[in-house]
Amino acid sequence: MPGPNLVFVAPWECSRLVAQLPRAPQDGLVAVFIESVDKGASLPWHRHKLVLVLSAMAHFAEQLREAGYAVHQRLAESYDDGLVAAAQELGASRVIATEGREQDMVDALERARPRLAALGVPLELREDRGFLCARADFEDWARGRKELRMELFYRTMRRRLGVLMEPDGEPTGGAWNFDAENRKRWPGDKPVPEPFRVEPDAMTRAIMARVARWRDRWGTVDGFRLPVTRADALAILDRFITERLPDFGPYEDAMVDGEPDLAHSTLSAALNIGLLHPRELVERAERAYRERQVTLPSAEGFIRQVMGWREYVRGMYWHGMPAFREANALECTRPLPMWYWAPDGEAYGEGPTAPCGMRCLADSVRQVRDTGRVHHIARLMVQSNFATLLGVVPAALNRWFWAGFVDGYEWVTLPNVNGMSTWGDGGRMTSKPYVSTGAYIDRMSDYCGKCRYDVKRRTGESACPFNVLYWDFLAQHRERFARHPRMAMMIRNLDRIPAAELRTIRKQATAFRASLVYDGSAPIVAPAPNAGVRALPVITDPGPPRRPRTTRTPATRVDGGAAGGDAVPAKTRTAGRVGTRTVTGTAGRDGTRRTAKPREDER
Ligand SMILES: Cc1cc2nc3c(=O)[nH]c(=O)nc-3n(C[C@H](O)[C@H](O)[C@H](O)COP(=O)(O)OP(=O)(O)OC[C@H]3O[C@@H](n4cnc5c(N)ncnc54)[C@H](O)[C@@H]3O)c2cc1C
Ligand code: SF4
Repeated sequence: MPGPNLVFVAPWECSRLVAQLPRAPQDGLVAVFIESVDKGASLPWHRHKLVLVLSAMAHFAEQLREAGYAVHQRLAESYDDGLVAAAQELGASRVIATEGREQDMVDALERARPRLAALGVPLELREDRGFLCARADFEDWARGRKELRMELFYRTMRRRLGVLMEPDGEPTGGAWNFDAENRKRWPGDKPVPEPFRVEPDAMTRAIMARVARWRDRWGTVDGFRLPVTRADALAILDRFITERLPDFGPYEDAMVDGEPDLAHSTLSAALNIGLLHPRELVERAERAYRERQVTLPSAEGFIRQVMGWREYVRGMYWHGMPAFREANALECTRPLPMWYWAPDGEAYGEGPTAPCGMRCLADSVRQVRDTGRVHHIARLMVQSNFATLLGVVPAALNRWFWAGFVDGYEWVTLPNVNGMSTWGDGGRMTSKPYVSTGAYIDRMSDYCGKCRYDVKRRTGESACPFNVLYWDFLAQHRERFARHPRMAMMIRNLDRIPAAELRTIRKQATAFRASLVYDGSAPIVAPAPNAGVRALPVITDPGPPRRPRTTRTPATRVDGGAAGGDAVPAKTRTAGRVGTRTVTGTAGRDGTRRTAKPREDER
């Protein structure tokens, strides 16, 4: 009898929306989950991110078992080692996997291919199901174009998928975007929505306890409240559509001290591990508009993020790889300041520094340290803006975003950081760098009133560092941008600054840069994935290999799902409130069986 077909379930394929699994269990088919020690040690990952991914994988494996699928879970040094060992042990006939979503996985699969071939096992790669635009379609769109701007791609996607389009081919509402209406500050008396929180169940708590013991990772596991199942992610999507989407548009760019979410969905973490599909987010937002629950600027603003930006950055990632990793058009040379790891001056890596006195930066980094996330504008106009003005190498900043955020993966951080925000790609993605003085932050937030710096000043001890660095940045890059159509006005403003004042600004910028403590482990030119990690993580004994089951659990109703591939048992899928999970079947309710008692081997 031929051996089983193995379906490799990548860590971002935690539901049947995206995993390459058939809608119902099949004899001779095994879902293979691999925890890679190398991957876990490749960056100082935020502990919330580790818990998220490991718990979502464990829950999905459990759900598949309950639905009657044969499941094989193993811990291996690398994904390729794990795949080869699983194929050998189970006597596989074939291994099926999704094409790598990011370069490291492509490399791992390509390393596995000849080793599997030596066992007589072919490796079959299939298209990634987690996006709305196939890689080949993006390349078709990009071919021959001089400018690869998001706005043009987004319009193509709207037309192609018929989203917010009228029968005459015009965009709904007569415009492609409503940005001008979407730039409001959060009113001081407007209550901030409560964060969406999912109480961790026993399985997640066991993983939290395990990850808490790992050394050289960022943050703690405390306060982990992210959804790790599709049912919980769907419940948050429901709440987002009714509770937050109406405010999404107008307050998209607003920031409030101590508040990481405001009217944002916080769904990126779930989306990026496959608990949700972008199609269902787009459909829900469009339906909310058609049913008059939200305004067009809110619905369109959200749809543009999901169907425009998310698909575009993924397309640009592959379009720009591998050169993207080293993109550094502004020839920056600095590592990241330690404030990005230790905003309160706490000991981390190279040791303690003075606390960060910049209210906006300190608050937004604290939010990342404590929760592994903060919303878009803080990432773009505070964290990335400051690093760009300082002259940080894009790869070093990218490494921080990739490791530190619960939704961070190279396919999304690299275009956002090396491409969009730092202008590392020299303008392929955005026409100009996303840099500003403190005035932008003051307009969109309540930070400046609470800051020790004065946002109105550009010289003197109390001058806002964004102001000092901004004018110095323009002076540094004057030649490059003098004739740039979108920067020329800023250069003209620079030229209006009296020469003596500009000299003072430049001296102050130099002194400010020199006063910072930098992350000694960060790469200066190209990413060095293992830099700064001194120990591999604690590993668990995966226990004896699980044999594929031959019997199926009956009565698993398969639910069609938005992407046509969702087959989560209906009972689980419709679980109502956040914080509750209806579990079908009987196996491993408390999670301890699946997350086998850890053998805490420090290596
Ligand atoms: C420097 C920088 C780094 C970023 N790193 C990441 C990252 O690691 N992972 C990540 O998913 N997003 C990243 N983004 C994009 C964006 O900031 C996050 O997707 C968003 O803040 C997630 O929060 P949310 O789910 O509440 O998003 P919402 O504001 O509710 O937006 C809805 C969805 O749109 C998508 N989206 C919006 N903007 C982008 C974008 N620029 N690129 C890709 N998707 C987008 C996300 O899937 C998001 O969930 C980054 C942006 C910048 C400027
Ligand atoms: S004054 Fe400058 S540093 Fe302080 S919060 Fe405002 S923008 Fe940030």
